[in-house]
Amino acid sequence: MTIIDNIKRSPTISLSEKIKDLKSKGIEVLSLSIGEPHFNTDKRIIEEAYNAMLEGDTHYVNSQGILKLREEIANKVKQENSIQALPSNIAVIPAKFAIYASLISLLEEGDEVMISNPCWVSYESQIMLARGKPVYYNLNDDYSIDFDDLVSKITNKTRAIIINSPHNPTGYVLTYNEVKQLVDIAKDYDIYLISDEIYEKFIYEGEHISPASLEFEHIITINGFSKAYAMTGWRLGYVVANDIIINKIVSFIDQTLTCMPPFIQRAALKCLQIGDSIYKYYRDEYRKNRDYVYKILSELSNIEVIKPKGTFYMFPKYNFQIDSLSFTESLLAKEKVAVVPGIAFGSKGEYHIRISFATSYDLLEKAMDRFTRFVRKFE
Ligand code: PMP
Ligand code: GLU
Repeated sequence: MTIIDNIKRSPTISLSEKIKDLKSKGIEVLSLSIGEPHFNTDKRIIEEAYNAMLEGDTHYVNSQGILKLREEIANKVKQENSIQALPSNIAVIPAKFAIYASLISLLEEGDEVMISNPCWVSYESQIMLARGKPVYYNLNDDYSIDFDDLVSKITNKTRAIIINSPHNPTGYVLTYNEVKQLVDIAKDYDIYLISDEIYEKFIYEGEHISPASLEFEHIITINGFSKAYAMTGWRLGYVVANDIIINKIVSFIDQTLTCMPPFIQRAALKCLQIGDSIYKYYRDEYRKNRDYVYKILSELSNIEVIKPKGTFYMFPKYNFQIDSLSFTESLLAKEKVAVVPGIAFGSKGEYHIRISFATSYDLLEKAMDRFTRFVRKFE
């Protein structure tokens, strides 16, 4: 039995493969499932990568990431997140892999890592891959953190708490006071906060607070270009952490990935140079989508929904007796609409579904019409 034998396929990734398969057979599926902006990457970013390749940026580069990009990221996190990091505190690596790299750098066998229930589908498996033990903390009814529950579950084996704001799947955005409380817990118990900030640019109300703006040593910040710049297939992100953690992560990159492709790093540099116009446009479009989906769901008597302040997900609860996997399978079979079953995000996600509204308004209207027809049958 190897570690990987206990690891299941990612439900979001396998569902998206299933949808692609159905589409290739000519079946029209309206997907509100996998979380990725429907926009194609801005042409200026693509041209930058293309030109970089033509200019010979096709060789191995520094495992930690090219210096110019790390300097720009240091500048970005200083200006936008009030994080005082040096380029040497940054490693360039896909966001998903950065979380695993952080875990493998932190954990001894059996160490505990706390994650919310519900939470993003890959944390639990990644903790297990790093030989750790996932421990779930509860969320309140409004999806804020239940701090009493969290603190009561800290033990002498706890090594880190993963937080994710804006939160996948609930869309919850942590307030300043909540972030401060988390930072104080990390300092008091001398444990790490792994702060996954991948949805930073999709906040509709409130503001994004990076815990590393309050305390640097105990915080590992994860971010990337996938969501903000519609670059999910480019696989590029970064991690910001203290010297000890970054040095371990760099050894890990050396011995596994070697380095991230230099032409992709040039494209990332271009994103930071272009600045906020790209994601502000995406965010404005998705705000309209959010308001629309919220309105439709609020009118359904058997659905309870909280308007998310961030991300591009909605996580409604339904009050009829069908498990979330059967719900989503039946919705797909009968109406050709794909959403993610809440159970994929943890036991507390049961009787919920996740709807991604990161798609075109037209597709959303069509999908929500079919969704409404499906749900009304349970009234
Ligand atoms: N964290 C969360 C909460 C996510 O939803 C995702 C999925 N994109 C990631 C990390 C990984 O991001 P990336 O695809 O950029 O590696
Ligand atoms: N994070 C996205 C999602 O939750 C993309 C797929 C994945 O990496 O899980 O749908």
